[in-house]
Amino acid sequence: MDKECELLSKCGFFKKYQSTKELACKGFIKQYCKGDKMNECKRMQYRKEHGSPPSDDMMPNGAMMIAKSAD
Ligand code: SF4
Repeated sequence: MDKECELLSKCGFFKKYQSTKELACKGFIKQYCKGDKMNECKRMQYRKEHGSPPSDDMMPNGAMMIAKSAD
C-alpha cells in the first residue's frame, strides 16, 4: 500500500496527470505508480532503454494519451 514508483517525483506523466479526474488515468496511477504493476511500466522501460524519458502523454501501458480539446 505504501509502495510508490521510484520515478514518481521525476515522472512527467505522473506530474501532469496526478490530479486528473480521468478515471483511466487514475486507474493507471493506482495500478502502476502506486501499485503492483510499477515494474511493468512502459515509461520506466523506455527511460531505461533510451536514457531519457518519453513524452508526458505516454501512459504506463505504452499507449498515448489522447488530449482532450479545451473547449
Ligand atoms: S508512469 Fe511509470 S515511471 Fe511514471 S511514476 Fe508511474 S510507474 Fe513510475
